[in-house]
Amino acid sequence: MDGVFDEVLAGLAGCDASETLALAARLARLTARLEGLTVHTHVHLARQRPPNPAAGEAGEPYSSVAADELAAELGQSPRTMSSRLATAWDIAHDLPVALADLAAGLLDHTRLAALHGLTVCLTARQRAFVEATMLAGSRLASPPQWRRKIHRLVARLDPDAAAKRRRRAHTERRVAIDALDDGMACLTAVLSAEDSQAIYDRINQIARTDARTDGDSRSIDARRADVLAALLLGNRREHVTVELQVIACVGTLASLDENPAELVGYGPIPASVGRALAADAHWRRVLTDPETGTVLDLGHRRVPTPALARLVRHQQTRCVFPGCGMPATHADLDHTVAHTHGGRTALDNLGLLCRRHHRAKHRRDGWRLDQLQPGVFTWTSPTGRTYRVDSTSDEEGGRPADNTHSRPTSNSAFG
Ligand SMILES: [Zn+2]
Repeated sequence: MDGVFDEVLAGLAGCDASETLALAARLARLTARLEGLTVHTHVHLARQRPPNPAAGEAGEPYSSVAADELAAELGQSPRTMSSRLATAWDIAHDLPVALADLAAGLLDHTRLAALHGLTVCLTARQRAFVEATMLAGSRLASPPQWRRKIHRLVARLDPDAAAKRRRRAHTERRVAIDALDDGMACLTAVLSAEDSQAIYDRINQIARTDARTDGDSRSIDARRADVLAALLLGNRREHVTVELQVIACVGTLASLDENPAELVGYGPIPASVGRALAADAHWRRVLTDPETGTVLDLGHRRVPTPALARLVRHQQTRCVFPGCGMPATHADLDHTVAHTHGGRTALDNLGLLCRRHHRAKHRRDGWRLDQLQPGVFTWTSPTGRTYRVDSTSDEEGGRPADNTHSRPTSNSAFG
């Protein structure tokens, strides 16, 4: 297969426009075929990983081990692979004809995803009817047209569908944070449309009136952003009840150097921002020795965690499963070698694991975890593949989201 790809790439320069268009169409069909093959492959793996009732998976169609294996092997986050696997499973079982069309290159993945997403609330029989009707007709000129036709069919079959979809979507409301460059981050909230609109209107009103002072050069966008932060945090920092951890060198805090500080859970921030946060007694301050990086002082705050636990959370910052981004505040401290098996409560035997990967480690059909040196782990998958995770490496900047170049390094049997 790789040889064919190389040959086509080499021959591309000799194609005229008409041939190039024909090739683009052919590639689109092949892409669909590959997507179909991928769905079949994921489902096949899930079938080989039956649910483990002892791990609380009774009633599930397959074990969560499958998604973790795919995530580690493909370098994706476990959450992403869980949702992709669930979609693949659903498509294979409820929309088998559409999947066959995808695998044959007769239907593209965007249209199949629409067919899947818009019919989730229907019964299996209604779904089969929509599937058959849509596949019998033309593929229409564009995905939006395709979606509109599905919407009309669904509305006719199940007038309550819109209400059901709204209820379902509403259970998935959420707030999320994603790191951006330059010391910024994006805070997202997925809310009901009416809550979202009301919140936006309120922010907008305040930004246009109250927040406006003479000589204010901020844009309206910046004023809205400031109003949002002020409303949620309280206008005065004393009202903040969250605890942010800032790590900075002694020299940086004393303004002797401009080494970047670190906001735990986010990553490097400019020295000046680190100083401003650390100067505020309500943020936790962590001093590090600039030569060795050794933690000198972890500051003193209300939660009486043992110093060791803080040290582990400070060094690892996130769940140490390949690609898992769960932050330290939501992760458990796990003895890599169980305490009952003689494992010590020490820096080289403690690891941060989120609930899911804590469970994955402890189940007998699951993963094995070894800690080679403090903060450096090897995960061995159920198929015997191994993945190295270094939570201490400078390259990661303390953000395991980008940290796991996890190529399999051995295929020895898992014993
Ligand atoms: Zn995890």
